[in-house]
Amino acid sequence: VKEHGKNNFQFYTPEMNETVTKKMQMEIGLRKALERNEFNVYYQPQIDVNSGKIIGVEALIRWQHPEWGPISPTEFIPLAEETGLIIPIGEWVLNEACRQNKDWQDQGFAPLRMAVNISSRQFKQSNLIDIVSKALDESGLNPEYLELELTESIIQDSKYAIETMHELKLMGIFLSIDDFGTGYSSLNYLKLFPIDSLKIDQSFTRNMFDDIKDAALVHTIISMAHNLDLKVIAEGVETKEQLQFLSQRECNEAQGYLFSRPVPAKEMTSIIKQQYTY
Ligand code: C2E
Ligand code: CA
Ligand code: CA
Ligand code: CA
Repeated sequence: VKEHGKNNFQFYTPEMNETVTKKMQMEIGLRKALERNEFNVYYQPQIDVNSGKIIGVEALIRWQHPEWGPISPTEFIPLAEETGLIIPIGEWVLNEACRQNKDWQDQGFAPLRMAVNISSRQFKQSNLIDIVSKALDESGLNPEYLELELTESIIQDSKYAIETMHELKLMGIFLSIDDFGTGYSSLNYLKLFPIDSLKIDQSFTRNMFDDIKDAALVHTIISMAHNLDLKVIAEGVETKEQLQFLSQRECNEAQGYLFSRPVPAKEMTSIIKQQYTY
């Protein structure tokens, strides 16, 4: 390890070289992944806390590279955003998720809301509305069964964000703020944005019983959401104790490993079917 003197900046190290190469490799792989059919959408149920029934599903992308194996979205989504590849990838997920949701409805299951993650780069693309309309048209899915999960980062351009969200609301789509509480935005936007629900970030849910402050934050977010006439869903629910805590504080929905990990469409179909055989 080298000492860094005052004027002794190190711009380049062998470790850096490796990181840059890995990133470039991944970008090349990512560019080919769509046409090579390496992506898959997994689904995770969202449970109504009162009834214990599935009322929604979140679509989560998976990438299986033929040589590198599975790559986590936490690794490749940021790169997809940086390179703009999130635009075609995100459109593919949206189409796939809408089609799958309509397929479940056509099989006769009670309609579920399909939640799709929209990165801020996607949200900012000028033809977002066309892409969403097209996904709905082509799948035949009723817009009330599509939810878009947006993050607080879209607020950078709040005028555009508000206008776009109003357009999506006019179409009848359900809008939620993902990872709520982890951004740095002001609470003022909750008043300005035409949203339907808040998703409590899993970092709060996870630490609820270790850190009294996290428990207080979860409770506060639920109360605030209700006071603003918003629904609230907690993610990362892994234990019965967490679910009980959320239920006592009237959190509307819960999602997490307690109910199911994200699973392929086929497995999700079995999970939905099980609901009818209680
Ligand atoms: P997210 O939207 O906050 O999704 C929740 C993540 O938490 C998912 O990770 C999910 O598998 C995981 N999770 C769910 N329940 C539990 C639990 O009980 N415990 C724990 N520890 N984790 C749980 P995943 O699938 O690896 O996705 C990571 C992130 O990648 C997502 O975070 C989202 O930001 C992004 N992402 C995934 N799919 C898409 C996509 O299709 N489009 C975009 N733009 N982003 C996506
Ligand atoms: Ca999400
Ligand atoms: Ca989240
Ligand atoms: Ca997240």
